[in-house]
Amino acid sequence: MAVILDGHVYADMALDSVAEKVKDLKKRGITPGLAVILVGEDPASQTYVRSKGRACDRVGIYSRTLILAADTTQAELEKQIDLLNRDERIDGILLQLPLPSHLDEQHALSCIAPEKDVDGFHALNAGRLMLSLDGVQPCTPKGILFMLKQAGIKIDGAHAVVVGRSNIVGKPAALMLMQENATITLCHSHTPDLKAQTLQADILVAAVGKPHLITEDMVKPGAAVVDVGINRVNGRLVGDVDFENVSKVAGYISPVPGGVGLMTVAMLMDNVVSLAETNHA
Ligand code: NDP
Repeated sequence: MAVILDGHVYADMALDSVAEKVKDLKKRGITPGLAVILVGEDPASQTYVRSKGRACDRVGIYSRTLILAADTTQAELEKQIDLLNRDERIDGILLQLPLPSHLDEQHALSCIAPEKDVDGFHALNAGRLMLSLDGVQPCTPKGILFMLKQAGIKIDGAHAVVVGRSNIVGKPAALMLMQENATITLCHSHTPDLKAQTLQADILVAAVGKPHLITEDMVKPGAAVVDVGINRVNGRLVGDVDFENVSKVAGYISPVPGGVGLMTVAMLMDNVVSLAETNHA
């Protein structure tokens, strides 16, 4: 049976370290601040925003949530972002995605000042990641790497297969694994024989959004399987991996819920503190 990559354990580790850094900053008179913008009333987004607020309370980060009506215009959204860009209490600005369909997500993200871009989605920070320069790294891939490293899973020299090529998870996860010297394969919906690719993986990251896409016959015995997917099936949360059967083959596996989602929030806290340290250096 696979070792469970328990997000509670690794997220607690990361949050304890963040709380220490916050204490140090407060001794210097600096309280790191996060602003979260939520447009509309998507219930899943509301849940995520609440969990981010709770994490801020736990580690001592000042947090503010700005709730905008679902019919907010692009101009109004960007005006609010601009106000937060100039707000000295705020070190990180998070625009909760997805936005209602009438809004231009990419343009709104580009309005966040790069030095307050806590998610690392601004083109400048994405470019810095591409060039292996220091900068804000997206929280979910950062959380995946933190978890793998803390669990003692060797990345250097491993073959990492990432399924999904989104700008927020798949693509940066592949880049970050490559920077840690993994050989990477990046799969997507046009990959002709997914199983032939996933069977090669020492580290398999599933970031698709399709329940139970990854089955036990697609996993190399002993592989580390990281399930990023969050899918609601009959009112229950499930990942992209058939946990019950894959855990009989894999060496390590992260559960859903209780896996990568917790790491994402923990890394968000870490990013707020890093931005505060840089912004007040
Ligand atoms: P996107 O919808 O942006 O991307 C999904 C990717 O999966 C695309 O690259 C798509 O390919 C690929 N894909 C779709 N179908 C297949 C298939 N049959 N075989 C192989 N690849 C396929 O999703 P996100 O990256 O934003 O999110 C992925 C999942 O992770 C979702 O369930 C989301 O809820 C979850 N998530 C979880 C987080 C966490 O903290 N745990 C954080 C963020 C997301 P193509 O590019 O060709 O369309």
